Amino acid sequence: MKIKILKKLSATIFTCYATIAMAGPHWSHDEQAEWGAIRDHSQTIEPFTLPYATCSLGNHQSPVNLSEESHKARLNKLRFKYYVDRPVFFNSGHGIQVNMSDDYDGHLKIGREIYPLIQFHLHEPSEHMIGNRQFPAELHFVHVREDGKIAVLGILIKLGEYNVALQTVLDNMPSEEGAQSTDANVALNPLVLLPEHRWSYYTLAGSLTTPPCSEGVNWLILAEPITISSAQLAQLKSFYSDNARQVQDLNGRSVSHRVKY
Ligand SMILES: [Zn+2]
Repeated sequence: MKIKILKKLSATIFTCYATIAMAGPHWSHDEQAEWGAIRDHSQTIEPFTLPYATCSLGNHQSPVNLSEESHKARLNKLRFKYYVDRPVFFNSGHGIQVNMSDDYDGHLKIGREIYPLIQFHLHEPSEHMIGNRQFPAELHFVHVREDGKIAVLGILIKLGEYNVALQTVLDNMPSEEGAQSTDANVALNPLVLLPEHRWSYYTLAGSLTTPPCSEGVNWLILAEPITISSAQLAQLKSFYSDNARQVQDLNGRSVSHRVKY
């Protein structure tokens, strides 16, 4: 039951998955340098007057530039237990998003930890970089555990072959901000959005990349990108473009890289 409430909250109120919080004041990607200073005028007591303060004060912020020279580590294999769903296509006002249905039981298994998949969404261009290289887009699979712990899987998207699964997302997405739609005839298995090789990934402690920029997020970024055709990228941009946060300082954080199968 608890997980269902969490799923509902995280899927409907927030874009990039906050824990429990009230919907805050309006923000946009254009004014990202000032997120930390946005005031909530309905509040009078500090720190509630500055609900997004972590965006400027936090020192474990995301996204980051991942170095190819990252520390090579023995890390758990990611086990994707994603299944087919009839999801909800949601235009959040900040990006396009697909919310998994309430009874969805697909999850990501890392070692013994199980992270239920709640939603996935797109950024254009990519938020993470690898060796200073930015990609045309990035997919974020947001997983929220019952205790509130969040793991986000980032998948970089490069220009290349037409992507059938992404087309399903683009074709079913409502164009109006805040609108959502579902179609009993549209089934999607998030597995088809993953690249062929899923064993190599980067990981670090980071944050939500949108306000309130909460920290404590377990980030996993696959080393292999997926592709999108140029026509599909144009279609993605017709919904939202430049909805990516700039890379943030590592501030001494170490990035681990799983390189062996
Ligand atoms: Zn995101």
